[in-house]
Amino acid sequence: MIKISLLGSTGSIGRSVLEVVSHSAGKMKVLGLSAGRNIKLLMEQTSRFKPKIVSLEREKDAQEFSQNFRGYPVEVLHGQEGAEAVARLEETDIIVSAITGINGLKSTMTAVHSGKRVALANKESMVVAGPLIMDASRASGTEIVPVDSEHSGVFQCLGREDRNYVKKVILTASGGPFFRLSKEEMKDKTPGEVLNHPRWKMGKKVTVDSATMMNKGLELIEARWLFGLEDDQLDILIHPQSIVHSLVEMKDGSVLAQLSPTDMKIPIQYALTYPERGEALLPSLDLGRVKALEFYEVDEKKFPLVGIARRALEEGESVTVALNASNEVAVRAFLEGGIKFTDIPETVIELMEGHRKTKVASLEDIYEVDRETRSKTRKIIAQR
Ligand code: MG
Repeated sequence: MIKISLLGSTGSIGRSVLEVVSHSAGKMKVLGLSAGRNIKLLMEQTSRFKPKIVSLEREKDAQEFSQNFRGYPVEVLHGQEGAEAVARLEETDIIVSAITGINGLKSTMTAVHSGKRVALANKESMVVAGPLIMDASRASGTEIVPVDSEHSGVFQCLGREDRNYVKKVILTASGGPFFRLSKEEMKDKTPGEVLNHPRWKMGKKVTVDSATMMNKGLELIEARWLFGLEDDQLDILIHPQSIVHSLVEMKDGSVLAQLSPTDMKIPIQYALTYPERGEALLPSLDLGRVKALEFYEVDEKKFPLVGIARRALEEGESVTVALNASNEVAVRAFLEGGIKFTDIPETVIELMEGHRKTKVASLEDIYEVDRETRSKTRKIIAQR
């Protein structure tokens, strides 16, 4: 029996995790759930999966929840401490970190100190704190298994291969909904059009990041720390079919690839069962019907955030923190109707041009850069 604590249970990844659990024929059990403000869905999940402990973002939601579950054997917590208590549950085997954005950093860090397995979906924590997270995982013996599909692909290709034989890792990108449009044609795209992703069903933040291709920039940084690679060992290819999730080129010229149907349940299940494998939850990949697998280079003029992310990756320290914070603020402003789609990269670029690199040695340092960047980004947006 695999016992799971799930951080971010009401988000897109969290819901898929629970689908995997419910198809595990009793081999997986959820012990703890942490959510944001979606109290209704957390109630449904609690009735169905019977966790011992749940946590909501706000105290008033936790109170309302408690009243509804009076007499149930469930402990109801709230806030940052609540999420961390879910991450710290003693009997848990695997902590799934699936909160979006830097909001997931503290509970991811708590999980990484546990000495257990962390199934990592919160890529932003790796972007802002990769070296700190990897140091903590080495110190505690925590095993980090990626949930992000591209990184799961790399993880599966690498298997027991000696990392010294790896020449290059290539992450594929769907190219998002606007891959075939010109910059001019992208300009007036509305949140509704941006959120209509051609291949993946995902949360809002990552879907917008996919359309600007910032998602792939963040994933390059995530891969750099996760697999201990140098920045010149990382590349991106656009692959509109989203069937090949990543490629690993070995020193001898052999290229390994991981292919699977386009569904997050596959990498999620693997992160939970590894090194074993569960039964397939989806029909087999039918390449005879897919026919063609295409690959294109990224046009960085059209998707400038890829180049900006690559430079941030080379610089490291506060630069990746500023990249993430300015992007989070710009994406939110776009979703709220405050800026145009093409203002997202322009805002991030303007912020990054003015950013002065500082050393980042602790979570406090990260939060300070994050706070400052957010307020500067809001000013840039207000002046547009
Ligand atoms: Mg991904």
